Amino acid sequence: MDLRTLFYAQTGALIATAAMLWIARAEADSRNGLRTWTFAITSQGVAYLLLASAGRLPVLLTAVLGNALGALSVALFMVAIRQFLGLRRDVRWLSLMVVAVTIVAGIGGAHYEIATMFNGVIYGAVQLLNGQVLWVRPSTGLRRIQRVVSVFYLLMGLVLPLRAAALALTGTHRDYLDLPLDWQAPVYVFGFLFIIVTNLGFVLMCKMRAEDEARRQAMTDELTGLANRRALSEAIERSLAQSVSHSRPFAMVMADLDHFKSINDRFGHHGGDAALTAFAQRLSAAVGSEGLCFRYGGEEFGVLLPDTNAAEALRLIERVRQEVALPAEGHRHALSASFGVATWQSGDTADTLLGRADQALYRAKAAGRNRAEVA
Ligand code: GH3
Ligand code: MG
Ligand code: MG
Repeated sequence: MDLRTLFYAQTGALIATAAMLWIARAEADSRNGLRTWTFAITSQGVAYLLLASAGRLPVLLTAVLGNALGALSVALFMVAIRQFLGLRRDVRWLSLMVVAVTIVAGIGGAHYEIATMFNGVIYGAVQLLNGQVLWVRPSTGLRRIQRVVSVFYLLMGLVLPLRAAALALTGTHRDYLDLPLDWQAPVYVFGFLFIIVTNLGFVLMCKMRAEDEARRQAMTDELTGLANRRALSEAIERSLAQSVSHSRPFAMVMADLDHFKSINDRFGHHGGDAALTAFAQRLSAAVGSEGLCFRYGGEEFGVLLPDTNAAEALRLIERVRQEVALPAEGHRHALSASFGVATWQSGDTADTLLGRADQALYRAKAAGRNRAEVA
């Protein structure tokens, strides 16, 4: 086994990965950086193919174009990572890096070790920066996977300049692909691991983020931005489990806008939607950190109050009722709502608890609306 064979094997791995990413490309890729990553790995695959052909193709193709595409891929990988993390991309100095690498490769010509040493130092710094941002800017739920990828970037950031130093020490002027394998073998083996971990890692990061977004969307009401009925069901189940194991009280509140039909009739469905959104904002603001607000459906809302007994819940909801009923600035009409409060009783299920809150709400409506009743 010689270096060139290892180099060609890596080229195969890169081109196969690039091909897979092209085949599976999707519109969402442009948002999370995967599109840029796909361009990067394609550029790297072609670069490796040219560089591995050193001595077999003209120097202009191997050294110059090969190194230019290699530098382009390093720059694009960095852009992709920063796109994923939502960070600023300074394309100016990355372009400068591509130009500098290309010039040095042109000067080095058939002495590939010159470009390899120069690139080792530059790319090492870029990989350290990539490792650093991946480590210190964990995206929600992605801390562990990001740190695994980060470690490989940090290691590559050390391996590349060390290899440059080792090449300088060997002091040879031959084509470095003809150097004996000895100490270069572990470098190439690490290179293989690096390709697998960073590519799989980045794809997994994108997949996990997409799943997280889909889950959040499935739990959010599109119109008001509040958590939706599905989220409410899950929150109630969690609260029930906690109350059973720790005997801690909690309150469930159902709210229903008063005479909402007439708002639709007067201002149209669009005006009704705007009123619902405004109400949702006022409700969240009034409840604040004391509880969680949900849109149950239509003009009905739910409020879950953890660690709250009946008296506390009624006091809090009375304040909320008064705050949301004030006509807000810029709104032509005052909105009021009626509230039904139920507190957890041992043996409750989501249905029995919601049923009692609904009964209390019904009583609040029957008693003249814009009021709160406790079950
Ligand atoms: P009450 O005080 O008894 O609650 O009277 P109400 O008019 O609020 O009650 P009702 O249940 O009769 O009417 C609710 C209305 O809410 C009917 C429906 O058209 C409207 N509605 C439900 N969902 C939406 C929505 O997403 N947007 C708009 N604009 N209207 C909605
Ligand atoms: Mg209703
Ligand atoms: Mg109503």
